[in-house]
Amino acid sequence: MRRKMAAGNWKMNGLRASLAELGLLASKHPAPVCEVLICPPATLLGWASEALLQSEIRLGGQDCHSEKSGAHTGDVSAAMLADAGASHVILGHSERRADHGESSDMVAAKARTAHMAGLTAVICVGETEAERDAGTTLSVIGAQLQGSLPATATGTNTIIAYEPVWAIGTGRTPTLSQIAEVHDFLRAELSGRHGAEAEAFRLLYGGSVKPSNAAEIFAVSNVDGALVGGASLKASDFGAIIDALDAA
Ligand code: PEP
Repeated sequence: MRRKMAAGNWKMNGLRASLAELGLLASKHPAPVCEVLICPPATLLGWASEALLQSEIRLGGQDCHSEKSGAHTGDVSAAMLADAGASHVILGHSERRADHGESSDMVAAKARTAHMAGLTAVICVGETEAERDAGTTLSVIGAQLQGSLPATATGTNTIIAYEPVWAIGTGRTPTLSQIAEVHDFLRAELSGRHGAEAEAFRLLYGGSVKPSNAAEIFAVSNVDGALVGGASLKASDFGAIIDALDAA
């Protein structure tokens, strides 16, 4: 049985005052059935880790470097994230692939380093609107998945997030059958690569998940939870998504 996951990506949002939302979330959800992960900006990880000492909410980074340490001004290493209290790291988010030119090879190198630091990698894949319109969604996602998974990936240290680029932050979502098609495809690709262990990988859907659409998305086959951007910033919205996942 895969434990469901509700993961929040705060992106470049949040100051110390935002930790109050974490406190609210933790007090309203002391024992969620699903695993709850919040990925705040790296600057908040240490504070958040202290604020969540008594809580089951896990923390993650939003990126890490592929090298263990060294002369990489402005970057954050996997070991630094772990040291600050993170257990997970998001890698290959479409905003990093687009804004920082991250290739799948780079994502795989980062994931390998994250695994060596003891972090679980949440690896993102997803097609652009032009790729969907051209009918290449599955081939694009297949190539991203195969290219972004390092040899160190297992069902316990790696989670895959399917995030259609055109659905992120737009309020638009794929149809439920489009989500099912991609998640079933991801499971089959993992099965070709990992055999029976493919069943252990959690597959998250991400892209404009909100309290009003969470329940129907969580009912889709092979959807093991969500990676949530905008709606993870407010404890009330993210809490409603956690409740929908717990009820699914
Ligand atoms: C994201 O950036 O991972 C995301 C899913 O954002 P949003 O929920 O705001 O679409």
